[in-house]
Amino acid sequence: MAAITDHAQRNVTLEAALAEARERYVAANPASLAQHDAARASLPGGNTRTVLFFAPFPLTFVRGEGAHLWDADGHRYLDFLGEYTAGLFGHSHPTIRAAIERALDGGISLGGHNRMEAQLSALLVERFPALELVRFTNSGTEANLMALTTARAVTGRKKIMAMAGGYHGGVLYFAGGGSPVNAPFEVVLAPYNDAAASVALIERHAAELAAVILEPMVGAGGCIPAEAAFLEALREATRRHGVVLIFDEVMTSRLAPGGLQQVTGVIPDMMTLGKYVGGGMSFGAFGGRADIMARFDPRRPDAFPHAGTFNNNVLTMSAGIAAMGEIYTPELATAFNARGDALRERLNDLAAKHGAALQFTGRGSMIGVHFARHPIRTPDDAARGDQGLKELFFFDLLARGLYIARRGVIVLSLPITERDCKMLVEAVDDFLSERGSLL
Ligand code: PMP
Repeated sequence: MAAITDHAQRNVTLEAALAEARERYVAANPASLAQHDAARASLPGGNTRTVLFFAPFPLTFVRGEGAHLWDADGHRYLDFLGEYTAGLFGHSHPTIRAAIERALDGGISLGGHNRMEAQLSALLVERFPALELVRFTNSGTEANLMALTTARAVTGRKKIMAMAGGYHGGVLYFAGGGSPVNAPFEVVLAPYNDAAASVALIERHAAELAAVILEPMVGAGGCIPAEAAFLEALREATRRHGVVLIFDEVMTSRLAPGGLQQVTGVIPDMMTLGKYVGGGMSFGAFGGRADIMARFDPRRPDAFPHAGTFNNNVLTMSAGIAAMGEIYTPELATAFNARGDALRERLNDLAAKHGAALQFTGRGSMIGVHFARHPIRTPDDAARGDQGLKELFFFDLLARGLYIARRGVIVLSLPITERDCKMLVEAVDDFLSERGSLL
């Protein structure tokens, strides 16, 4: 009884703290509110990208430079969201800028092959073990759609398998019962990190199953690494049944020089890329085994078509070559992600010092925030964390000039310094001290 009363009391206190944090936010951001109100006249809910919305209204940013962002009300933030991993290079990296300017000088939308597409593809093929041949798209969503439809075409099978709670783009959303606007694939959902159950499902559907798609670490759903035995079991079962194994490395490819596949040693048949690879320009790519990708060779009489007006657009190609060829070298990828590992360790040490029901998951430069004591092995485990505390954490950090993803993801970008990381650690320390009674 006493425990129930304590719990109820704590919820009342959390609700009051949240109401106060939201009020403080509204009072501090009149220009963002006015922008949101104006945008609602022509955009549903004032929004054209769902993930960026948060209640009571989202911030409007007017400028970014290096690791900093400025909002419409003149507040400056340290950017610990890093455009959900696409902002790896920070805002207006001089080498990326120069590459874009070079492209602009040569004319945009040329309507033909250019030299840069083969340069960027060569960089990627050299880098990622699964990529023997690659093709470009304009987004990660499009890359995943192409990978899945390719797998269906080469296998002559219809179904695809994804992981419950997985996310592969706006029309490939597999959390909480999926999305009404999902692409109309016949989807079998498997439990992440459950090798036996997933293999049993592959075996049951094998005759109709074209592909298994997953991230080797769940990204947006909470930075949840796949266990080695799980990936190995999927690799073995898909190979045995002629199912195409697809790694969505749109986010995770940044975590090591050759992506997470290189670290895990499990090499998929196909993989997809996106986000940071285009240096911050619109980007996506799908590729993999030469025998599969060769089906797109337009010299073949039976070639699969693959269109996309902007697939080889010079801005993305030029920025991507600078990004992957000049800036994000294999050496930098290793050192940068080691910094992320060190930061995660410091944050987890802090949570332990406070005895708090808080843990930081992930790998390298991607960190998931979970207000929970139970192990986080699946997106479901992440969803069972305390969402109210997560919101309070977000608003408290925002008030201190630290911008993270509202859903509780912290992403490092290259211009973030040790001092910036220290500011984050101090803010978390203060949060745990000030809000400790709620945790
Ligand atoms: N796959 C994963 C793992 C992603 O995180 C995302 C974007 N958050 C996508 C695919 C879709 O990429 P895009 O937003 O470029 O369509």
